[in-house]
Amino acid sequence: MGRIDALRCRECGRTHPATAAHVCDFCFGPLEVVYDYPAVAAVMTRERVAAGPATIWRYADLLPAGAEAPVDLGAGLTPLVRADRLAAELGLGELYVKDDTRNPTGSFKDRVVSVALTRARELGFKVAACASTGNLANSVAAHSARAGMEAYVFVPSDLERVKIQTTAVFGAKLVAVEGSYDDVNRLCAELASERPDWAFVNVNIRPYYSEGSKTLAFEVAEQLGWSLPDHVVVPVGSGSQLTKVHKGFGELAEVGLVERGLVRVSGAQAAGCAPVATAFAEGSDLVRPVKPSTIAKSIAIGNPADGWYALEAVRSSGGAVAAVTDEEIVAGIRLLARTEGIFAETAGGVTIAALARLAASGVVRPDERVVAYVTGTGLKTVEALGDGAGPSAVIAPNLGAFVDAERRLEEEGHR
Ligand SMILES: *Cc1c(COP(=O)(O)O)cnc(C)c1O
Ligand SMILES: [Zn+2]
Repeated sequence: MGRIDALRCRECGRTHPATAAHVCDFCFGPLEVVYDYPAVAAVMTRERVAAGPATIWRYADLLPAGAEAPVDLGAGLTPLVRADRLAAELGLGELYVKDDTRNPTGSFKDRVVSVALTRARELGFKVAACASTGNLANSVAAHSARAGMEAYVFVPSDLERVKIQTTAVFGAKLVAVEGSYDDVNRLCAELASERPDWAFVNVNIRPYYSEGSKTLAFEVAEQLGWSLPDHVVVPVGSGSQLTKVHKGFGELAEVGLVERGLVRVSGAQAAGCAPVATAFAEGSDLVRPVKPSTIAKSIAIGNPADGWYALEAVRSSGGAVAAVTDEEIVAGIRLLARTEGIFAETAGGVTIAALARLAASGVVRPDERVVAYVTGTGLKTVEALGDGAGPSAVIAPNLGAFVDAERRLEEEGHR
């Protein structure tokens, strides 16, 4: 388990010991975990995975931690739902929704945090910390509680109220910063050098943390009977998730668990924070930072750390990046709820709305096997629905009033 040799710079290729470090001393490029793939291939079989736990830790051979007991609240192995009713609405064929609303704290962040804190504990850290747009805060607070670690969580002060409460309840020290996520992130980058004994999951532990997103690819392949989808649609905040989903499919082929094949990877952003979609549309290599303004706060990262790598994964695989308006996001949330019974947060609305756009423009095709990643629960962002989700009728407590209301509703339904 945990067959990692070192960290390697994604830019200059120099290696670095597998400690708490995220940038190359030499060129400041981002560091990435190095695996001994032949050694992994020698032990990792479909049977071994199937016999593992019903969590992300069934893929421990391709994760950078977990040689001992992981910090585990049960993240992962979420349902891959065949979405025929949604497919029919969008004019698609074989469509699946990866329902990552069903994680311990309601978002895919449980995958990355479980890996990050497991590694942090192995490296001897007692304090966990993060900069967060909310979901990461929830997850770091919960997993720290589980691990018996102290937690410092930094969030923008305008965060959804629920995300504040559902972090504070775990006993984390929650610091609301008057600024945007990018301000919070800058503060944490500074703090990380001032507090070298803290494990900042998305700063000094980032090379390990980001690997947790690969399990989104591993699970889909296993759930499709160890085969690859043709096209996936992934929400883009920092761009890490998309980059690692792309990497995850490649690794499965590398260690012989699936046949090698092309998975087209497309990205989904909110128009109010679309630096990667803009660069894609312009055919540019430069991801220019923006000031976010969107209801999709969990992915409102104006200066995405992995934006360039996400673009590269999209372009090299033949995908695209779509940007959708706040109205389309709400419509996407409602469409998914109404057709498939899955209530997603705003980032999920972004994925569904982007899928709708990509289907309408012919980028995602009806002859493809498609997976849409729905990465967080709607219960944390109910405000986004506004007045659009109220009672169908308000009536006096008698039968006549109901019968009248029923007739009205039927008339509306037929209009
Ligand atoms: C953080 C987050 C994302 C985006 O992940 P990145 O790795 O930052 O691109 C997507 N969906 C949800 C619900 C998130 O919380
Ligand atoms: Zn380097």
